[in-house]
Amino acid sequence: MTGDNPLLAQQGLPRFSAIEIEQIDPGIRALIAELREALGILEKKVEPSWEGVVVPLEALGDRLGSAWGIVGHLMGVQNSDALRAAYEGVQPEVVRFALEQGQSGPIYLALEALRAGDGWHRLDAAQQRIVEALLREAKHSGVGLDESERQRFNALQEELARLTTEFNNHVLDATRAWSLVLTDPDEMEGTPRSLREIGAQAAREDGHPDASPDAGPWKLGLDAPCLVPFLEHARRRDLREKVYRAYLSRAGSGEFDNSPLIEQILALRAEEAQILGYGSYAELSLESKMAAGVGAVTELLESLRGASFDAAHADLADLQAFANRPEADGPDTLCLWDIAFWAERLREDRYAYSEEELRPYFPLPKVLDGLFALTRRLFGVSVVPADGEAETWHPDVRFFRVMDDSGEEIAAFFLDPYSRPGEKRGGAWMDECVGRSRRLAASGEGVRKPVAYLVCNQAPPVDGRPSLMSFGEVTTLFHEFGHGLQHMLSQVDEGMAAGIRNVEWDAVELPSQFMENWCYQRATLAEISAHEETGEPLPDALFEKLTAARTYRAGSDMLRQLYFSLTDLALHHEYRPGSEGGAFAVQRRIAERNAVLPLLPEDRFLCSFGHIFGGGYAAGYYSYKWAEVLSADAFGAFEEAGLDDAGALAKIGRRFRDTVLAKGGSEPPMAVFKAFRGREPRVDALLRHYGLGSP
Ligand SMILES: [Zn+2]
Repeated sequence: MTGDNPLLAQQGLPRFSAIEIEQIDPGIRALIAELREALGILEKKVEPSWEGVVVPLEALGDRLGSAWGIVGHLMGVQNSDALRAAYEGVQPEVVRFALEQGQSGPIYLALEALRAGDGWHRLDAAQQRIVEALLREAKHSGVGLDESERQRFNALQEELARLTTEFNNHVLDATRAWSLVLTDPDEMEGTPRSLREIGAQAAREDGHPDASPDAGPWKLGLDAPCLVPFLEHARRRDLREKVYRAYLSRAGSGEFDNSPLIEQILALRAEEAQILGYGSYAELSLESKMAAGVGAVTELLESLRGASFDAAHADLADLQAFANRPEADGPDTLCLWDIAFWAERLREDRYAYSEEELRPYFPLPKVLDGLFALTRRLFGVSVVPADGEAETWHPDVRFFRVMDDSGEEIAAFFLDPYSRPGEKRGGAWMDECVGRSRRLAASGEGVRKPVAYLVCNQAPPVDGRPSLMSFGEVTTLFHEFGHGLQHMLSQVDEGMAAGIRNVEWDAVELPSQFMENWCYQRATLAEISAHEETGEPLPDALFEKLTAARTYRAGSDMLRQLYFSLTDLALHHEYRPGSEGGAFAVQRRIAERNAVLPLLPEDRFLCSFGHIFGGGYAAGYYSYKWAEVLSADAFGAFEEAGLDDAGALAKIGRRFRDTVLAKGGSEPPMAVFKAFRGREPRVDALLRHYGLGSP
């Protein structure tokens, strides 16, 4: 039955061209029936040994993970009404089965006996960490609950899965439902050529066949490649306000209103935590993280707030003074929709370049070449294009193989680079396509090789020219590639601790944020840049400006991230869902201490805060800052050795590969960090990179 459904293939890469939406429901149901039977057999013969319990669990998890992983991936990159219906129809089954497995008494007892028995010390460190994680997951899945509690807990889990999916769908729908068609060139005054091209292309695809970059019309949306340049450059203040308000109130009212979902999700999470015996959802969430608890997280966030608060307010005062110069003729009081615009004008004035000026230097093919050259220099691995050797889900998607220094293939990845607002979720991410595992290798293969999905939302190619990337899009690509490196360069043979698996959530942004640092290194910049017309690399003068501007508005950026982190933590720790004013009152209270301008009355930012309501960052948004302490300090090791010393970089690069990238979740993150750095992390490098004083 499951044999001819391509979704359920047990070996090789997903056959995207053969997968049909109609196969999802019957395929996943048949698979779960098969796995349920296998679980029943395992429960009868389970033994407290590695072979007797963990190995079969890896196989079970992998079957479901790979099939359901493909469906989840398509939800992110090829969303449609039919796909959603199929996903939502079968999702409760998946949740139910995951709970059955997590709550299995015989398996839990076998794992406990394994930990308590003589065989425990014969397991290696990675194996012991996997068993500990399985025991913790079982506890968090409700293995210790009595029957009535368990029923309630299971209902909560199903409902939460449904609500978070609906939350994401609403964000996608609300984004898609909004557009602004501008027909008068005056309305586009100040906007860069690249945005006019994107806008005209979108208009051509939407009933304006004669739309041109110079004469319009231009169709604008709320996806980042449209939104960001418009807010930074459009001279028409009224239109910036219109776009900004639409963005901030996205999914906040009407048909796609997420506000009721927010209260429900928070209430269900609080109840889930309470049933499991935790004081709050944040306490539950932090039990599986590197941070020692809510107190430790708050301490870090507050210390960073101390280091950035004055700087952020000084940034605003600077901007206001700049806008008030007689020749600038800016508004007497800057509003939220003025910040990006005047920040760009001040950047142009102070550093004599604009973000848009950089784009022609960063055509995607060149950026990729340079990124791969850096990867070879630092880590001794080569990336080779292999387009056409794997099926993809869209013609723009590329496929690459990764080779070690002996020329042997060790991994592969897909890259889906461009924004597709109609069907693709915003933001950027790395996800597993195939995980490394010795146990699950095909016969004749020593180890199953990891394969990654790298997904970005950068400016698409226009009129046959390659995608010209903003510097922000370049750093995002490096970021996701860093996640990909940890997935692909893993040397852990145990599948459940290979790559990013079993890495504490607040340590997982270490390799990704680490890679961003290289975008500011001269040799790397020379390698990733070539002007699309002249082929010239980024000129030294622009490089100097770019690095000088690195700390520009750094206090503001830091404080903004702290505002998000503290709001997330407060909502999952102190807030009682259903309280007066709802979650928005909490957001407002946090904003009063952490935002430089008051929020708009209609601010519904939480309604599109997919990280915490539609993704895995609930009570975990702080992870970016937590891991950035690690990533900045790790990069500090390269700085100390000298960024122009190729030999030293290669030596430390190998050490980074052999520790952070290779060990993944097989050891505690602090141990991995110390193996690389020789000591515990310090916050100094992060503050230095941001140009901020000591806290
Ligand atoms: Zn990331």
